[in-house]
Amino acid sequence: MGADLERLKQRIPLLEYLQRHHWTGHQVVGTRSEFVGLCPLHEDTHPSFYVNTQKNLFYCHGCGRGGDLIRYVELKQHLSFRQSVAYLEEELAPTAQLLAHTAAFYQLELHRLPEGIQYLTHRGVHDAALIEELGIGYARGGNLRPHLQALGYSLERLLQAGLITPQGRDAFCQRVIFPCRQQDHIVNLYGRSIGSAFPHRLLPRSKGGLFAWESVRQFRHVILVEGLFDLAVLWQAGFRNTTCAIGTRLTPAQLDQLRENPDRCVYIAFDQDENQAGQNAADALLQCLDQAGLYVRLVSLPAGHDPNSYFVAGAKAQDFDHLLQEAVSL
Ligand SMILES: [Zn+2]
Repeated sequence: MGADLERLKQRIPLLEYLQRHHWTGHQVVGTRSEFVGLCPLHEDTHPSFYVNTQKNLFYCHGCGRGGDLIRYVELKQHLSFRQSVAYLEEELAPTAQLLAHTAAFYQLELHRLPEGIQYLTHRGVHDAALIEELGIGYARGGNLRPHLQALGYSLERLLQAGLITPQGRDAFCQRVIFPCRQQDHIVNLYGRSIGSAFPHRLLPRSKGGLFAWESVRQFRHVILVEGLFDLAVLWQAGFRNTTCAIGTRLTPAQLDQLRENPDRCVYIAFDQDENQAGQNAADALLQCLDQAGLYVRLVSLPAGHDPNSYFVAGAKAQDFDHLLQEAVSL
C-alpha cells in the first residue's frame, strides 16, 4: 500500500493537481519551490495557502490545515482517506489508459505505413530496438477516433483529452509520436510534424517530468537536450544519460528532479541556431541551474547544429564525447 500511495502521489505533483483545479499560485520571492495563493479550503481574502513543490506538501496559515495530495483531497472533497485514494485513482488513471491505447495504436501504424519510418531515417533514428523502446509511433490523422470509439471511449472523453479537436479532427495528423511517460504511465504525447504543419505539438496537459527520468536519474552526469530527436540520436550513440525537457524551459518539478542529487553535473546541449535563441535559452538555464547549486557545463555544437543534426551530418559518438570534454562551465 505504501509504495502504491507514493506512486499515486508522484504521478501528479500537488502543484500540478491544484493548477488543474484552477488554483493560481505565485512563486514566493527568493525561493524556488514555494508557491502561495488563496486557500481553496476556506474563504480566503489574503493569500495564505503555501505549496512546497520539493516536499509536495501544502500548508495554509489561515485555516491551519496542511499535508499531501491525499490529505488535500480528503479536505476538499470531504472524503475519508481510503475514499480519497480511490477518488484520485479514478481521476488520474482513465486518461493514462486512454493515452496508452492511443500510443499503442500509433505504434502499430508506424509499421503499417512507410512515411513514419522514412521520417525517422531522415532524422538519423534507425535502431529498431530503440524505436520500440521509446514507443515511437506514427499518426496519419483521420483514423484515431473510430479506433478509440470501438474500444468504448466516448467522443467527449477524446475531446477532453485533446486527442480530437473541437472541430472533430485528430489532434495529431502526419506526425511522428513520442509518448511521455512518468512512473510507467503515459502523461502526454509529443507529435513531430513530418509535413508543413507547425513542427511541435503536445496535448493540452502537463508534459510531465524530465523525459525518461526513471532511467536517467541514476547518472551523476546528465545531458540535457531540447528535443526528443536529439535524445533519440544520443541514446542510439550510447549516451543513455540524456534527458529532455521538451523545450528550453524547465518546470519547477523538472528542476527538482535534477536537484535530487546535489553532486549532479548537467551538460546543456541546446541548438546553436543562427538567431542566438538556443544560446540565450541555454545561458538562462545555465544561470538558473547554477543558482540551484548544480554543476553545469555548456556544450558547444558547431554553428547551426543541434545534437540531432550533428549526428545526421555524420558525427560519431567520439565526436560528441569530445564536445562533452570541451564543455565550459559558468
Ligand atoms: Zn485555508
